[in-house]
Amino acid sequence: MKFRVVAEYFDKLEEISSRLQLSATLADLFRVTEKTVLDKVVYLIQGKLWPDFSGLPEIGLGEKLLIKAIALGTGREEKEVEITLRKTGDLGEVAYSLKGEGESSGLLAYVGGVEGELTVEEVHEKLSKVALATGSGSRDVKIRTMAGLIKRATALEAKYIVRFVDGKLRLGIGDATVLDALSQAFGGSKTEVERAYNIRADLGQIAKLLAEGGPEAISSVKVTVGVPVRVMLAERLADTEEIMEKMGGKALVDYKYDGERAQIHRKGEKVTIFSRRMENITSQYPDVVLWTKDYVEAEEVICEGEIVAVDPETGEMRPFQELMHRKRKNDVQEAIAQYPVNLFLFDLLYLNGQEYITKGQLERRRKLEEILKKGQDKIRIAESIIVEEKGKLEEFFFKAISEGAEGVMVKSIAPEAIYQAGARGWLWIKLKRDYKSEMADTVDLVVVGAIYGRGKRGGKLSSLVLAAYDESSDTFQTVCRVASGFSDQELEEMQNLIRKYTIPHRHPRVNSNAEADVWVEPALVMEVRGAELTLSPMHTCCLGAYREGMGISIRFPRFIRWREDKSPEDATTTTEILEMYRNRLKKIESETEETV
Ligand code: ATP
Repeated sequence: MKFRVVAEYFDKLEEISSRLQLSATLADLFRVTEKTVLDKVVYLIQGKLWPDFSGLPEIGLGEKLLIKAIALGTGREEKEVEITLRKTGDLGEVAYSLKGEGESSGLLAYVGGVEGELTVEEVHEKLSKVALATGSGSRDVKIRTMAGLIKRATALEAKYIVRFVDGKLRLGIGDATVLDALSQAFGGSKTEVERAYNIRADLGQIAKLLAEGGPEAISSVKVTVGVPVRVMLAERLADTEEIMEKMGGKALVDYKYDGERAQIHRKGEKVTIFSRRMENITSQYPDVVLWTKDYVEAEEVICEGEIVAVDPETGEMRPFQELMHRKRKNDVQEAIAQYPVNLFLFDLLYLNGQEYITKGQLERRRKLEEILKKGQDKIRIAESIIVEEKGKLEEFFFKAISEGAEGVMVKSIAPEAIYQAGARGWLWIKLKRDYKSEMADTVDLVVVGAIYGRGKRGGKLSSLVLAAYDESSDTFQTVCRVASGFSDQELEEMQNLIRKYTIPHRHPRVNSNAEADVWVEPALVMEVRGAELTLSPMHTCCLGAYREGMGISIRFPRFIRWREDKSPEDATTTTEILEMYRNRLKKIESETEETV
């Protein structure tokens, strides 16, 4: 398939301003894509060469090398490339304009082929070569391969190839949009396609399967060791009575550990660890890999737990930030010694050829206990009890906190309480320590726009427009502007971060009445604490859901930290915000009653 077609669609997609049009156009692209390369096209759309879980490196070509490659590929001096970059600020545009000028000379005489003849396979293959080149001489291989691609590309193709490599494809198309477009293009209900993706989270593979085998192929998708299952998530509540009610009077209650979620896949001697975002994090935890082989007694298994940092001296739990050292350290062995961890398992998804996700909570837990070797303390089962009344729940909650946990996870033990892959539902409810603060819990919001500061912060993007995720429309709805909580250094670092995602107009998946000096592709998630939730006509979050013409906004929000472990679709949802607002009102009402 000609890469030109893909580039032309990328160009169209960039101009679109509505979410519906986005998925319709994407569906058109899928229809004209040859089935054999559909997986590759899906990855490219998401700015990737392969799924994150593959553990293969992403393309890493810094700006300097990319400039060299553009110069070489367009027959210009590096200086000229740099000057054009200063004007446009976008290397993709640079490649486009430098190629464009050359195009009038017709087909370039080039030994390796002519412009406009590139296929998707070739582009993917060459980019993979760039990504995978390592060791001495790899720098040259990368530059030459890129230059070769640029040389053979049309101006438009070059623009998108370069943007891709520069990490700035800026299409901002999330999984849900792709799934939507897939079912439009090839039939199969959206729910069925989603189900398949939830249990085998390889979007490219699912796309290909659907295109080649139709809806039947999709309905027979099963959990596969080695391909992550999308994680099950919890709703939140602050009131223990309400929690017990939701659970039908009886529930399993676990400590909510403050670490990193790990989905562990074992097939014989091969162990792979996936993060909450389904990235392959195996290399950070060689200790956990070893323990899994030694202590999880199963030939083939998928289980889940939380990796928690522990104090090397006392064995007590440490906050999750400690795990960050593991990510930064180059010397893993040293990191293992300096920042030891424990693994607390809480779920079983698959065991020796049998899916467990469709089984009840208690059966999963029992089996998990059965396959975990006794007499060791590296891998443990999450501390838990069964409760039948709220007093016991509260007692256990305080015990959890006193031992360094974040709170508790309350889990339904009803027979239908399966592992709901990829869903946030009421089968799990989290009760966290910070619910006791003014605004129940912090929220994770997505940056969709930014505004320049004044005075001391003049010329700097210093106020960010933040949005919650609306699952039903797959859009981001604004909820507040945050301008405080950043240290000087954080503010400085933020400038480049935001610029990386700046786009010329409001993103089609962003629903906003708020104004912004620059618009930002929904990609960055930050944790924010607010003072309270109020109705507001300024924001689109939950617009009309509580009162006509009014949205819900967060007052006095403060930046806490970036949540790199969350994708924009993992941000706090509009439904959660509505729930938080209602709970707050209830609390105020009951407090008023008490004082009366
Ligand atoms: P948060 O922002 O509070 O970390 P989240 O949005 O990542 O939450 P939630 O579903 O709200 O995800 O909370 C569940 C998270 O809590 C899981 O992703 C997991 O990492 C962690 N966790 C810790 N202990 C447990 C447990 N016993 N059972 C399930 N999840 C647990």
